[in-house]
Amino acid sequence: MTRPQSYLEPLNVRGRIARAQPLGLPILNLGFNELPYPPSPGVAQALAERAQKLGSYGSPGCDLLRAKLGEVHGLDPEHIICGNGSEELIDVIARNFLRPGDEMLISQFGYIQFEMTAHRIGATLKKAPEVDYTTDPQALLAATGPHTKIVFLANPNNPTGTMLPAEDVVQLASDMPENVVLVLDLAYGEFAGEAYCQAMHRIVERQNNVIVLRTFSKAFGMAGVRVGWAHAPDWMLPGFYAARGMGSVNGMAQAAGGAALGEMDVIQARVAEIVSERDRVAGVLRQMGMTVVPSQSNFLLVKLVEATPDDTEALVEHLFDTCGIIVNRTREAGLEPFMRFSLSLPDHNDLLLTGIRAFLDAR
Ligand SMILES: *Cc1c(COP(=O)(O)O)cnc(C)c1O
Repeated sequence: MTRPQSYLEPLNVRGRIARAQPLGLPILNLGFNELPYPPSPGVAQALAERAQKLGSYGSPGCDLLRAKLGEVHGLDPEHIICGNGSEELIDVIARNFLRPGDEMLISQFGYIQFEMTAHRIGATLKKAPEVDYTTDPQALLAATGPHTKIVFLANPNNPTGTMLPAEDVVQLASDMPENVVLVLDLAYGEFAGEAYCQAMHRIVERQNNVIVLRTFSKAFGMAGVRVGWAHAPDWMLPGFYAARGMGSVNGMAQAAGGAALGEMDVIQARVAEIVSERDRVAGVLRQMGMTVVPSQSNFLLVKLVEATPDDTEALVEHLFDTCGIIVNRTREAGLEPFMRFSLSLPDHNDLLLTGIRAFLDAR
């Protein structure tokens, strides 16, 4: 029987454990780079109040939220666009600058959503080799060609957690051909520090072709409401609004984002706790003899020494079966022996360490 043609198929990139937790333990998902905290008091209150006005649309231009973002970060709100998570903005940017036959360039272990976006648009994806699981700016520049329209680069990067020093990004941006868009994804920027983020925003102000992407999903712990934003040269914004849906950032999300920006001290304290836990857990894992990729983010990419992908699979299953912990099984080419997990509350992290130690002892 004939049927309509479908152009897209899912890109399956991760294996997930499908069975129920065998001991009936609570599930602790450390696989999505989320933060473990409840909403800060101001955010909870703003959500409750906005819920009383569910009949009204949010502002299509996210006017109040953009004004607050401008104030907190010292940016012109007219150079900011918000989206339904930065995920939507990756898509919006790509739809504005890419068509089939155009090239998107990313780093070898670049964020998987960049690849998914290229796939969705039918653009050609090119990857530049990394050194020590870190972006190599020279390799990226060398890989640009006449069809390159856009370069997506996350610092710190997911899934590696590594980042380029700010000076190297500044240099890369100024060496980038002027007709190529360079997108600097700062989803984990808060973990790299405010000075780093500010250095990235300055590049946007200096150049015509650089965009910074940020999100409330990671350091702000608000992945569930879906808000991200882009800081871009103002000439780009009309194209982005044309590519984005009118009401994509819902009213609840706008209210929550605005409230969170009024409680930056809470966010900073949480980021500090996660960073200190990250360094503690990395130290313990190295003592246990594991390979830990140096991370500037809220997660770690680790592997057993001389691990095959099967060994890693066994560890991932052991953590689920004995502790109820879900970690992320990286299956990208070249990262098969690794697994990735986000840092959580100290008790959660200790449970993970106990699980890994038991696995190593029984090996
Ligand atoms: C999580 C993540 C994002 C996007 O998250 P949203 O929830 O869509 O804002 C973007 N880039 C990287 C590198 C990420 O890890």
